Amino acid sequence: MYDYPLFRPPSEANSLIFQVTLGCSFNRCSFCNMYRTKEYRERQWEEIKTEVDITSSAYPETRRIFLADGDALNLQTDKLIKIIKYLYSSFSNLERVACYAMPKNLLQKSDFDLDKLREAGLGMMYLGIETGNDALLMKITKGATSKGILQACQKAKAHNFVLSCMVILGIGGSTYTKQHIDDTARLVSVLSPDYLAALNLQLEEGIYEEFIRKFGEPYIPVSDYEVLDELERLVSQISPQRSIVFRANHASNVYSLGGTLPDDRKRILSLIEGLKKRPELLKPKVLRRF
Ligand code: SF4
Repeated sequence: MYDYPLFRPPSEANSLIFQVTLGCSFNRCSFCNMYRTKEYRERQWEEIKTEVDITSSAYPETRRIFLADGDALNLQTDKLIKIIKYLYSSFSNLERVACYAMPKNLLQKSDFDLDKLREAGLGMMYLGIETGNDALLMKITKGATSKGILQACQKAKAHNFVLSCMVILGIGGSTYTKQHIDDTARLVSVLSPDYLAALNLQLEEGIYEEFIRKFGEPYIPVSDYEVLDELERLVSQISPQRSIVFRANHASNVYSLGGTLPDDRKRILSLIEGLKKRPELLKPKVLRRF
């Protein structure tokens, strides 16, 4: 029985989900209302174990598991290792366990802890970069700097975790669109995650006013054309040190596209160029969700 609301990355759609923590221990990013209705708490081992026991009988073929909510990596390392080991012993076909990671979670874990987590079978982390621009990171109250994000991602890579990062198109509005994309492309190029997802900012009811207030100056939303322009510049400017699987296929995006960078760069850019001339092909606004 889930404690709603429940979120997981699109690529974990076929994974079993266990809520080992509820909510987000930070819960202050101004653009995010995922866990505003929840108080952060860690679930008891006995509760988690019971769920695993019941679910492993019902879904013994499970190959992938996602640990929710927003902050599983905030758990004490020993407890998280105990959970991960129990999952592998309960699901004999399990291949991958993944979770969200905040930069601060990764920076707080020691190299020893990360090695132990990797050995136990935590294989993949999803980390929101949002933007590589420090002024914007402050405005959206991300609680991280570009340097911290880079260090956190490098730490994850150094310990052989598969790293999937998210950035948000439109997060700086029209005013900061250049700085946002220039700095984000630069940061992404340096850290070269295995996967990169570009989402579209959608300010849902309930956080709009807070976002504007924290932004500290008038926020001028980007148009669909400008979103495509940001996407075009992002894809053009990323110079990865190794291949990145790139996706803009989230529910928030104006159009679903993807490919591998740098190999598919030309194809993606040509698609974006075409979309700029054919706005009728874009997803209707009412169907976009963050
Ligand atoms: S974006 Fe992530 S870290 Fe920020 S409030 Fe939302 S869940 Fe928490």
